[in-house]
Amino acid sequence: MILQIIKYGDKILHKKCKKIKKNILFEGLFENMFNTLLENMFNTLLKYRGVGLSAPQIGISLRLFIINYFDSRKNIFLNTKILKQFGVYKEYCEGCLSLPKSFYRIKRKEILLIEYFDEKWIRHNLLIKGFLARVILHEYDHINGKLIIL
Ligand SMILES: [Zn+2]
Repeated sequence: MILQIIKYGDKILHKKCKKIKKNILFEGLFENMFNTLLENMFNTLLKYRGVGLSAPQIGISLRLFIINYFDSRKNIFLNTKILKQFGVYKEYCEGCLSLPKSFYRIKRKEILLIEYFDEKWIRHNLLIKGFLARVILHEYDHINGKLIIL
C-alpha cells in the first residue's frame, strides 16, 4: 500500500515524536500492524523515489524512520540517538518528500556516531560518514519536529 505523505503545514510535522516502547512493539496485534506499517513505508519511499521517510511524514508521531540507500537491506531505525557529530560542516542541497519540488542548502556535520534499535529490537552503534550521515540527520530532525525550512 502507498501511504499519503503529509505535507508542510500540518502540525504533526512540527511535533517531537514519542519513543517506541519494546513491550508495545512485540504485543501480538501491534507486531502485525508494525510489520505492515514498515512494508507500506518502504513501498511509499520507493514510489516517491526518496532516500528516507520518517513516521511523522505519514501521520504517526513515533521515533521511527527508514532509509533506502546504503545497501540492499531495508534499514529501519527506531529510537535513534545521535551520540556524537564530528568533522566540519558541509553544505548540500536537500529535498524533502513533505516539501515537494523545494530544495534548500543545509549545513551538516559529515561524520556521526549513532545508537538505534532495528525492527527486531537489536541495538546498534554505528559510525556513519558522508551522504548517509546527512540522510540520517535529516530524518532525525523529522522525529524532533524539525523541517529543513525552519
Ligand atoms: Zn524530509
